[in-house]
Amino acid sequence: MLKEQEINLIALVERFHDEDKCRIYLEKLRWPEGIRCSRCGSDKISRIMTRNQLDCDSCRYRFSITAGTIFHDSHLPLWKWFVAVYLIVESKKGISANQLRRTLGTTYRTAWHLSHRVRAAFKEVDAQLLKGIVEADETFVGGKVEGMGRGYTDNKVVVVRAIERGGTIRLQVVKGGDRETLQGFIRENVAGETQAIYTDELPSYLGIADHDTEHKTVNHSEKEYVRGDVHVNSVENIWSLLKRSIIGSYHQVSAKHLDAYLDELEFRFNNRENPHMFRDAMYKLLVANNLPYAKLIAQEEAK
Ligand SMILES: [Zn+2]
Repeated sequence: MLKEQEINLIALVERFHDEDKCRIYLEKLRWPEGIRCSRCGSDKISRIMTRNQLDCDSCRYRFSITAGTIFHDSHLPLWKWFVAVYLIVESKKGISANQLRRTLGTTYRTAWHLSHRVRAAFKEVDAQLLKGIVEADETFVGGKVEGMGRGYTDNKVVVVRAIERGGTIRLQVVKGGDRETLQGFIRENVAGETQAIYTDELPSYLGIADHDTEHKTVNHSEKEYVRGDVHVNSVENIWSLLKRSIIGSYHQVSAKHLDAYLDELEFRFNNRENPHMFRDAMYKLLVANNLPYAKLIAQEEAK
């Protein structure tokens, strides 16, 4: 992997102010052992410098450094992608599409599509299961719907979360607060042999214990927030922070986009002490499935 000094916006612009520098960075990140043909795997590759093309000496396949990646079908210059990713991972509370539009001098549509693709790339596909002491809880989050009054609940969703004490967090939008849904979320995200799961007293969590996992609860209604070590304060504190960032930066997140925002928040939180967060974010973008604009719009309409 690349060596990386501390990165800030000035260093970023100095290092990546032109397209060639960005391409070299992506090339090293994508092929740390040297370029391989993406069709036949050969490492006998010639460069066609004038056209930024790579030519496989074995199968004659021509490709570019960004072929098959998110960056490929984008009209946005690479250096703008670099700045956008930097701004997204470095901002404590996230950055809205509107703010990106202003900062990068793009159209709103470009900024919006870019932030969605970055979020999609951040989605953890093979996340490690949480273990040790895990706190889990849930809240209803109301998405605002224009023209609808306060009592309107159709746009409300449940956000569930689980955190390993001192470790990483998982956030997810689910359809309800019932037992099957909440326990399903815990089973998918927490190691079966984890030491203990702490929750509030919602009946949906009953029966989550087994022979090697304790289940302890905190009774919120009786103001018994802490009983010795049994509390769900870590997960609640982080959630109140994240909730502020959703409200603060994105103003009105509709329920259907909330899951994608949660992926972004999760990535940022889980990498809070990672000095290579920018590099790792760029790597995720390189290997992520592309999310074409047409598909994004279709997903929107299907919801
Ligand atoms: Zn080849």
